[in-house]
Amino acid sequence: MSDIIQLLPDHVANQIAAGEVVQRPASVVKELLENSIDAGATSIKLLIKDAGKTLIQVIDNGKGMSATDARMSFERHATSKIREAQDLFNLHTKGFRGEALASIAAIAHVELKTKQENDELGTTIKIEGSTVALQEPIATAKGTSIAVKNLFYNIPARRNFLKSDTVEMRHINDEFQRVAMAHSNVSFLLHHNNNEIYNLRENNLRKRIVALFGDKMNEKLVPIKEQTDIISINGFVVKPKFSKKKRGEQFFFVNQRFIKSAYLNHAVTSAFEGLLENGYYPSYFLYLTVPTDSIDINIHPTKTEIKFDNEKALYAILRATIKHSLGQYNVAPILDFDRDANLDTPYHYTKKEAVSTPSITVDPDFNPFKTEVSSRITTSKNEQTHYKKETANWEALYADIDILPEEKQQVFFENDDEVATKKTFQIQKKYLISTIKSGIVLINQSLAHQRILYEDFLANITVKEASSQQLLFPVNINFSKQDAEIIYHLKADLESAGFMFNEFTKNNIVVSGIPTSIIESQTTFILEQLVDDLKLEIPDASYSHFDVMAKSFAKSLAIKTGISLNQKEQENLVNNLFLCKEPTLSPFGKPIFKTFTLTEIDTIFNT
Ligand code: ADP
Ligand code: MG
Repeated sequence: MSDIIQLLPDHVANQIAAGEVVQRPASVVKELLENSIDAGATSIKLLIKDAGKTLIQVIDNGKGMSATDARMSFERHATSKIREAQDLFNLHTKGFRGEALASIAAIAHVELKTKQENDELGTTIKIEGSTVALQEPIATAKGTSIAVKNLFYNIPARRNFLKSDTVEMRHINDEFQRVAMAHSNVSFLLHHNNNEIYNLRENNLRKRIVALFGDKMNEKLVPIKEQTDIISINGFVVKPKFSKKKRGEQFFFVNQRFIKSAYLNHAVTSAFEGLLENGYYPSYFLYLTVPTDSIDINIHPTKTEIKFDNEKALYAILRATIKHSLGQYNVAPILDFDRDANLDTPYHYTKKEAVSTPSITVDPDFNPFKTEVSSRITTSKNEQTHYKKETANWEALYADIDILPEEKQQVFFENDDEVATKKTFQIQKKYLISTIKSGIVLINQSLAHQRILYEDFLANITVKEASSQQLLFPVNINFSKQDAEIIYHLKADLESAGFMFNEFTKNNIVVSGIPTSIIESQTTFILEQLVDDLKLEIPDASYSHFDVMAKSFAKSLAIKTGISLNQKEQENLVNNLFLCKEPTLSPFGKPIFKTFTLTEIDTIFNT
């Protein structure tokens, strides 16, 4: 039998490759824009006609091409960007496969004009169906202009498959946005049918995002920043209350390349845990920078998926960083520092400084008396669901406290006995009532104290100068074999929290120093409680245990129900609570207080 295998002619091979690389006009846009970026352009114009079906033109002021390179650029596997396979793991360019121009030229009419800076004349080339129709010198500006006309003119099936102009233009817009977002230091222009859609000046990241998504975006952004050995993270997440029902604005850039990653998206989503209503998705603009040899970009023809070497670590860092930022910017109800302290940026605690303005979450419409009056207090614990809508911050809550003369109002927050005495009452050794301008606030004393202690611990741990007190008589604690195993892994974390140990073996620990916030006699109880709490946690090696520790200590040490507090103690508790970063919820997510407005109270009495 005769041989039947043949090498495909180039133009056929190119058309096949085009099937992968060029699915629609937007794919051409992506490739051309990326080539301009790779050419070092600082200004890029994208001109579109009929959603790209008639014309896609990109004009840049990049480095241009020589006459020979201009011709070469349309050959398959022709690239200036890599030389050997090894270079795939040291990529600093968007392109490297050398097939975009060849593919595009196989399925459209292409006109190229290009000139290098020091050349007098440039080159123009016209290609139709992979064959060069014209090449000649021409006078043109420095840089490159590529016009792609009549896309898929020779593949009717493909052309007919294109969607409406609106849909195709949306895809083009998406690609344009991604490139523009990844390169805020480049200016971009987008015209469709001679109408200007975007005119973006070179700018910082935040302004670029706002220019693309509208002025309102500015107030919605929470900055994200982290720098570690294996990754640096930059960018923004959108405050949870502005999250969307669609997965619209979710952007990851890795080394300035837009990528899709379900895995990293999961990390972000899980950082928003408890902050989003069902069916809502977080929006984010996250820029990750990783060493070029720690990723593989060549796993997908359009290069929108990449493989990371240390995915798990990246996941953990990303999640922790976002949680941290949400907490710091007071958007998250629960502070969460379950992360390696090394990764923490110092956590500035504002207790002694001027009062900051944490937001309080109160439902102004909630009327506790709609149901049973008598169960008012005892049901308050179950009122979590009513703490949803964000209204006034605490400043407004306490503004113009009407019993006090104007100039004394601030004093209330400085634990001034005299002025404050009239202002709080303890009831049932369980709740505190404090008067406020708009009515009263009912506070659960134990939960309030938990919050104060929790933030105190975290502040101490994260600023890394946890204060210790030396024990006069070191405390010897024996743990069961299983418990000893747990505590054994905590030594470093405990030390950062302010514990000191004379001995720390698998069977026995001798505590010689404790954090100042802990009472000596409670040392054993607190550590035992911590072990119990840790047993309930899902172990995850990539996290430190600070958060569990802080929660556990807060729970152990907080004053309980049944403890009566003198006036001064009540005042301190109330004042310190409202100096917390997040006074609304206990470390375990329970509401700490509830306000009752005068209007609500009036309705009880029908007045
Ligand atoms: P790749 O980008 O993967 O190298 P392309 O087919 O997209 O492959 O481009 C082939 C080559 O043509 C590039 O490597 C580059 O040298 C050159 N080139 C393409 N577009 C431009 C441009 N806008 N300015 C300068 N050179 C360009
Ligand atoms: Mg390219």
